[in-house]
Amino acid sequence: MDFKFADEEEAFREEVRQWLKKEIPQRWIELDPGIWEETEESWALSRQFQRKLGQKGWIAPAYPKEYGGLEMSHTKRLILAEELAYSGAPIGIEVEITVNWVTPTIMLYGTEKQKKDYVTRVAKGDLIFCLGYSEPDAGSDLAALQTRVVEDADEYVINGQKTWCSYGHYADYCWLAARTDPDVPKHKGISMFVVDMKTPGITVRPLINILNRHSFNEVFFDDVRIPKDNLVGEKNMGWYQLAMALDFERSSIGTAAINQRIIEELVQYAKETKCNGGTLADDPLIRNELAGVAVENEVLRMMCYRIAWMYSKGLHPSYESSMSMLFGSELIRRLGNVGMRILGPYGQLDVGSKWAVLNARIMRMYLSSISMGVGGGSNEIQRNIIAMRGLGLPRQ
Ligand SMILES: Cc1cc2nc3c(=O)[nH]c(=O)nc-3n(C[C@H](O)[C@H](O)[C@H](O)COP(=O)(O)OP(=O)(O)OC[C@H]3O[C@@H](n4cnc5c(N)ncnc54)[C@H](O)[C@@H]3O)c2cc1C
Repeated sequence: MDFKFADEEEAFREEVRQWLKKEIPQRWIELDPGIWEETEESWALSRQFQRKLGQKGWIAPAYPKEYGGLEMSHTKRLILAEELAYSGAPIGIEVEITVNWVTPTIMLYGTEKQKKDYVTRVAKGDLIFCLGYSEPDAGSDLAALQTRVVEDADEYVINGQKTWCSYGHYADYCWLAARTDPDVPKHKGISMFVVDMKTPGITVRPLINILNRHSFNEVFFDDVRIPKDNLVGEKNMGWYQLAMALDFERSSIGTAAINQRIIEELVQYAKETKCNGGTLADDPLIRNELAGVAVENEVLRMMCYRIAWMYSKGLHPSYESSMSMLFGSELIRRLGNVGMRILGPYGQLDVGSKWAVLNARIMRMYLSSISMGVGGGSNEIQRNIIAMRGLGLPRQ
């Protein structure tokens, strides 16, 4: 089968490339923050860039026009996602969370007012959401969550604790899963809310990640009062919205392009690095390792294309998203290992050392890749989903 993009799609890819060449700030390139490495400075730069992207209609290009989108085809959306990822543009996981996971769910279940309030602002690049799902005793078994929401006159009152909340210290709103009925089976008493992170009673505490950066948080809710309008969808039916949002979460389509960039850098490094009278690239073991990850990355790219194709046909990816997430997270770990083997001991040096290679990008990627098979549901959970929904195996 020949996967070819139409001429008009190739022209669009070129337009995106030219735009990115002009618009990615030089300072961002110098800072070179990898995944989970945002700082105040890089965050400010990326928010500026995201607003520019929003003005062009490219932050949420496939959204309906009435909510600020361009109704762009999913193939073009895929091309845009690939180019943004490959170029290393200032658009991180916070945009994925907001644009591709939270607001599509609000579009499905929210009121017209909620769509106007949140979706249109997200499409302009004006809003960032964080996810309030996990708790100290609810991760893989998310339905065990205990954060409690009760009604009080015309408000809801929230009490409880969330954890691992990515970029909760920068986000404007939290997409919160909480228990609204404790007296029914655990999946039946959950509801979804939008909570302004500036509401009194919210305390955000940093959790420092493996890269020694602040990307995660614990978030505490102490008698936090929100308007009743902030309930999204039907009360106590939140589990089903959550499942939908998690399917969106697992269906990222730009991941192969990030890997592609890393593989190309490693190939270039191998070609340029002298060793035993030749270059590293002459070593058949190294060639084999690089060819192996390059082939696997093509497999991942096809998985991403399959998901984009499903969206274009109005289908909802479910176990297909889990397959791509599982394969992608295991591949990035393998890629990290291959990269560290090729770079040898120099690969362990961090930014700031004059001997660091490739700006320590491979080492930083190697470290952050460990978390890839955990966030959004661990690889064991993805395997369970593939087994049950994909292969139809029995639950017990
Ligand atoms: C990079 C990253 C970003 C994150 N961002 C957010 C965020 O923004 N918001 C948020 O709410 N959460 C976030 N999380 C949390 C994430 O969703 C949880 O870590 C994840 O769901 C796993 O839950 P847990 O950590 O409680 O592990 P546990 O559920 O305690 O699992 C521990 C181990 O047991 C295994 N296990 C558990 N149950 C089963 C089972 N039924 N079958 C087989 N194996 C099982 C797991 O696979 C795992 O290996 C993030 C996590 C990471 C790593």
